[in-house]
Amino acid sequence: MEYKTGQGWHSPRIQPYGPFSLDPAALVLHYAQEIFEGLKAFRREDGEIALFRPRDNFERFNLSARRMCMPELDVDLCLKALRELLKLEQNWVPKSEGTSLYIRPTMIATEPVLGVKPADEYLFYIILSPVAAYYKGGLKPVKIWVSDEYVRVPSGGTGEAKTGGNYASSLYASALAAQKGYDQVLWLDSVERKYVEEVGSMNICFLYDGKIVTSPLSGSILNGITRRSILTLVKEMGYEVEERALTIDEILDGAANGRLTEAFGTGTAAVVSPVGHFTYREREVDLGNGEAGELTMKLYNTLTGIQYGRCEDKYNWVETL
Ligand code: PMP
Repeated sequence: MEYKTGQGWHSPRIQPYGPFSLDPAALVLHYAQEIFEGLKAFRREDGEIALFRPRDNFERFNLSARRMCMPELDVDLCLKALRELLKLEQNWVPKSEGTSLYIRPTMIATEPVLGVKPADEYLFYIILSPVAAYYKGGLKPVKIWVSDEYVRVPSGGTGEAKTGGNYASSLYASALAAQKGYDQVLWLDSVERKYVEEVGSMNICFLYDGKIVTSPLSGSILNGITRRSILTLVKEMGYEVEERALTIDEILDGAANGRLTEAFGTGTAAVVSPVGHFTYREREVDLGNGEAGELTMKLYNTLTGIQYGRCEDKYNWVETL
C-alpha cells in the first residue's frame, strides 16, 4: 500500500514476494525514515492459525510512526489485511512446534529528495516468512556482556520507536560481544551509564528479593508486548511488580549475594530467555546453576501454552483466523 500527502493511503495489494524498485534518492536510504514490527502466527494444536496480541503490534507501529514523522495506519484495516494475507497460508504446515510464520510490517519513506525533511511519499508492506523454533533442545541460559562504552539510544532519542536506526547503532557493540563469546548485549542508559535498559532485542526482568523488577518505560526502551504479558502473568501468580530504574551494580551485587535469583529477557522471538551470566568491565558474575530458573520456565510454559492453545487464554490475547 502506498501513501502520498494529499492523497492518503492507496493501492493496497497482495503480491508474490520479490524485489521492488526504489529511487536511489528515496529518503529512507539517506535519513533512515523507517519503522517496522515483528509478530508471529502459530499453528495451534487444534489446527487453527493464531496470532498473539496483533492489535498491540499495530498500535505500537502507529506510535513509532508518530515519533518518526510518518503517516499512521488504520489498525482495523491492518488487522484485516493481515488476515487476508494469512488466509493464503491456510495450508502452511509447521515443521515442529515452535516453527512459526514471522510477520514483518514495514513502512519506508520513498520520496526522492536529497534534503533532510519528512517524506511526502511512503510504502507500507508486510513480509511473511517461516522461522525455525528459537530453542532447539530446551531453554539455554545466555551470557550477557554489559556495554558501558556504547549505548543503543540517547536519552530523548528514538528508543521507544521500532525504527531501524536503533538497531544499526546496536550492531557494533553486538558484534564485539559476539567476538568475545557472549550471546547478548545489555544496554545501559545514555546519561549516567548505570541504569539497566534492555538486552539485545528483548526487555529484561529480574526476580529480586522475591519481587519482579523491570526497567520502567522511560522513553528509551521498547514497550514490549511480551514484557506486558509477562507482567500480567506474574501479578496473577502473586508476585509484586516493581517497574523502577535498576543499576547494573545492584544486579551484579544481587547475583553475587543471592538476592537476585533469576533474570530473563522477554521478546516475541524467544518469548522468555534465561540469563546465566553477566560481564561488566572486569566483573564476571554467574546466575543460577546453568539451567533456566523455575519461574523463567513456568513463564515460558504458560505463555507458549496460551499461544498454542494448551493453557486458558483468560485475557483474550490470542486471535485465530
Ligand atoms: N526491545 C527491543 C529493542 C526489541 O527489538 C524487541 C523485539 N520487538 C523487544 C524489546 C521486545 O518486544 P516484544 O515483546 O514486543 O517482541
